Parts: sequence; structure tokens; C-alpha cells
Amino acid sequence: MWNPIAYALGFIDCDHISARCMLTIFQFFAAKTEASILRMLEGSPQEYLHQPIVNYLTDRGTKIHTRRQVREIKFTESDSQSEVTGILVAQGEQEELITADAYVFACDVPGIQRVLPPSWRKWSEFDNIYKLEAVPVATVQLRFDGWVTELQDEAQRRQLTHAAGLDNLLYTADADFSCFADLALTSPADYYRPGQGSILQLVLTPGDPFIKESNEKIAQHVLRQVQELFPSARDLNMTWYSVVKLAQSLYREAPGMDPFRPAQTTPIPNFFLAGSYTQQDYIDSMEGATLSGRQAAKAILQFLNT
Ligand SMILES: Cc1cc2nc3c(=O)[nH]c(=O)nc-3n(C[C@H](O)[C@H](O)[C@H](O)COP(=O)(O)OP(=O)(O)OC[C@H]3O[C@@H](n4cnc5c(N)ncnc54)[C@H](O)[C@@H]3O)c2cc1C
Repeated sequence: MWNPIAYALGFIDCDHISARCMLTIFQFFAAKTEASILRMLEGSPQEYLHQPIVNYLTDRGTKIHTRRQVREIKFTESDSQSEVTGILVAQGEQEELITADAYVFACDVPGIQRVLPPSWRKWSEFDNIYKLEAVPVATVQLRFDGWVTELQDEAQRRQLTHAAGLDNLLYTADADFSCFADLALTSPADYYRPGQGSILQLVLTPGDPFIKESNEKIAQHVLRQVQELFPSARDLNMTWYSVVKLAQSLYREAPGMDPFRPAQTTPIPNFFLAGSYTQQDYIDSMEGATLSGRQAAKAILQFLNT
């Protein structure tokens, strides 16, 4: 029972996950009655999660530039105080120097490790970031010509006029994926297609053994495990698949690593960090990332008001 929970929380098993992560989540479940309900978005994250946030921000004058990479942090260094003076942002071949009153870097673990100036490692707050690791993960989607999680009724399983089966996030200890759902049922707005069946999304954890495998091999391997879990669906056909591999995804919430996570304020007064890997009171998740952003915003306001 515990491994699927640990895998779903941090993509690592019980023996390798920090007790902090498990305690955080169970304290939360115990204290908040609504926290034990699993919910999925109505459709794709782009439309149902990101777009409302983008709309909120652009309505208030924010400009969002995607496909830009911060290549270099420009800074002055003196014995008393260092200060960031600008960031070199690249879009393809073009580079632009951006200056601001305060700079917040909301990167993932590999991103922040790449972009920090090496000389900043003289501060333990920055040097400790290089002790953090990220977990590999692979996400697989399989489309079928029927309803995989419809266990009771064969006619329902084979019809393609409406969705049928288990409408929730599912967990298993008996496959290489710990956590999965039929998106055609849980998030129908974008994933239910008339005339087609289940679209299972399954997260392979630990992802290490799969990163070097071909997508075709991974899809067939996962299909076999799906058929083991749902014998009633063995004669359904997989009609399409997609595999997305991330060699470095979440921050690895391993025992003893918490002290190395940076705060949002740093030794450089106008340079701030955010992101779910930074110090915050929740697990590495979208909610954790949001909390870190709120903490960073608070710290920036404090800096600008002093
Ligand atoms: C397969 C999978 C499933 C997940 N499912 C869930 C879930 O169901 N619920 C949940 O809450 N969480 C889930 N998570 C975790 C969640 O996605 C992360 O915790 C969250 O995205 C962390 O947000 P973040 O803003 O800290 O970092 P990220 O979302 O990783 O964003 C960091 C960004 O910084 C960018 N970046 C890095 N370096 C630079 C640079 N030099 N210049 C410009 N940009 C740079 C990166 O490209 C990236 O876009 C899942 C994660 C994975 C991998």
C-alpha cells in the first residue's frame, strides 16, 4: 500500500523517500476533510489550469514570453555586497539584456544548477543546491478501441458511443506504473473522442530503467501490464500511444536532503529563488511551487520596501 503512495507523491519508493514528505501529506489529509478527495481537471492542463492563470495575469498587464532561455546572470561583486545587474536572455540566436529591480528564478533543479554563476558557490546557500538531485520519470498514454476499466459489462466495454469504466485516479502496487487514470473518463472535455475508447495515462516510476528504452518497447511493456491488471480488457486493441521521458523531473525528496533546499531569499539581496524544490511546507507539486512563489513574492516586497 505504501509504495504506490510514495511513488505517486515523489516518484520514489518508501525506502528512499524522506519521511518529511509522507508526514506532510498525511498530516494534511488528517487535518483537512476535503483533502482526501481526488480530483482531475475537466480537460487538458493547458486549457483548464494554465490558460485561466495566463488570462488573470495578462488582464493585469503582465507580459509572458515563452521560448526564451536565461543564458547568463550579470552581477557586480564586492566584499560588502553583490548585486545582480541584468540577465542575458536568448531566443534562438538573439540575445537581450534584461534589467529589473529584483530578479526571481523559478527554475527546476537542473535549470538552476546550470544557470547560477560558478563563483556564487562560495556561499553555502547556492553550493547546497548542487547536492539536490532530480528523479527520472516516463509518462505513457495508450488509446484503446473500448473501455479498459469497465469490469462488469462486456457490451459496455465494447461500445463506442459513450465513456464507461472507473472515473477516478487509480493506484497499483503490481505494475511499473503506480498511478494512472482513464483520461477519457476523468478529463473528458479534451480526451473523450466519439468513436474511440479509453485513453489511459500512466506514470512509470521509478523511471530509470525506461529512459534508454524505445517508445515502442515501453508502450508494449505497459500494455502487457495493463492487460495483467484488467484481464477483462485483454481483447481490446491499443490504437495509439505516446511516451514522454524526462531524465530529470521532480526534486528527489530523499532522506536528509531538506536542509540543502534553498530559501527564497539568497545572499544576493536583489536575487530570489522560487520553485517547488525551494523551501516550502508542502511536497514537490504544483501546490508546493505555488507556495514557494508566494514566499518569494513576500520576500521581494520586503526588499523593495526597505
Ligand atoms: C509526469 C509528472 C506528473 C506530475 N503530476 C502532478 C500532479 O498531478 N499534481 C501536482 O501537483 N504535481 C504534479 N507533478 C509535479 C509538478 O509538475 C511539479 O512539482 C511542478 O511543475 C514544479 O513547478 P516549478 O514551477 O517549481 O518547476 P517547473 O514546472 O519544472 O518549471 C521550471 C521551469 O523553468 C524553466 N527553466 C529552467 N532553466 C531555465 C533557464 N535558464 N531559462 C528559462 N527557463 C528555464 C524550465 O524549462 C521549466 O519550464 C508532476 C510532475 C511530473 C513530471
